[in-house]
Amino acid sequence: MKIAEIENWGEETRRIKNLFERLGCDLVGVAPAKHFPEMDFFENWLDRGFAGEMNYLQRHREKSVNPRKILPSVQTVLVCGQLYETPLPHETAEHNSHNGWISRYAWGEDYHDRLLKILRTGVEWLNQKFDDLEYRFYVDTGPTRDRIWARYAGLGWFGKNTCFINQKVGSYFFLGEIFLNLPLQTDKPAAERCGTCTRCLESCPTKALVEPGVLDARKCISYLTIELKTAIPENLRDAIGTNIFGCDICQDVCPWNRRAPQTREDAYLPREGFYHPDLGDFYKWVRDEFPGRFKKSPLKRTKQRGLLRNVAVAMGNSGQKEFKSALAEMAESDDPLVREHAQWGLEKLKNRQSKKQRVKPTKSGKTSS
Ligand code: SF4
Repeated sequence: MKIAEIENWGEETRRIKNLFERLGCDLVGVAPAKHFPEMDFFENWLDRGFAGEMNYLQRHREKSVNPRKILPSVQTVLVCGQLYETPLPHETAEHNSHNGWISRYAWGEDYHDRLLKILRTGVEWLNQKFDDLEYRFYVDTGPTRDRIWARYAGLGWFGKNTCFINQKVGSYFFLGEIFLNLPLQTDKPAAERCGTCTRCLESCPTKALVEPGVLDARKCISYLTIELKTAIPENLRDAIGTNIFGCDICQDVCPWNRRAPQTREDAYLPREGFYHPDLGDFYKWVRDEFPGRFKKSPLKRTKQRGLLRNVAVAMGNSGQKEFKSALAEMAESDDPLVREHAQWGLEKLKNRQSKKQRVKPTKSGKTSS
């Protein structure tokens, strides 16, 4: 059938949205393929240098703000969201300092693979129906501004923590989008609902949220432990705590996530050992089982040396002297990045021990120096 033969696009849009919901999407909306003011904000954010070393964001800048550069015949953008919340406690709950934190989105399988598969299946169905269908689809895999499309597809608003928030489900969801030459019925953008709340701004350990809705990625723990390929700046290492891959704090404190529904996708539940792993065990997995154990996991993005770097910082921050031998081993590494971070970790543990010794309690219960 030809696209022009469809008479009722309202009905057709509902049918297509239902299809993607049946395939596993929890949120589906449609945005008109236009230039929106937020695209200029993003350009300005890049110009201010807040993207750090994420040079891939600089590439295809023109394409990313002009949907017609992606697909000349584009009419609408279908946006899909898939939840990844699980019943396990948040990062902000009480945790053991022997253990490191992996960001919730990375506990299970790589979402790119899962969500791309759903989008591909949906597109195949559309392709069979329409002889003249044209499309492009992405899950963080191309030059698109997914949150902007999601906003104009009516799926939510940009939180002051810069995450994309939906009134019903919070912010623990992945986004993917399909650029289509179909004149689907579009949705209205949702209202902004952060109000006077500033919890995320106050909770960020590195003060990376420099203004409401403006992130200096160069200070963000997710950037420092995932995207940054070089040394973590020393002045930010203490604040990283025991985070070994990403950070969830600005989402975990958000009231809109208090009742976030859980994912229907088993693939996003934690792999064995990936929920809040013991730092000693995790070190051995990275040392001995990389890449095998990390196959199809988002953690492989940081590569072995990046994970070892992060583990060294976390071990230093843990205050646990039993990590000394692992740190001493890393301090002998052939890789200068790992070596330097391990030396920093050892020094941190040593300083902590000597501080403890200096503040020993006396018999009277008072402390002596
Ligand atoms: Fe908005 Fe508050 Fe959530 Fe931050 S914590 S994103 S200010 S609602």
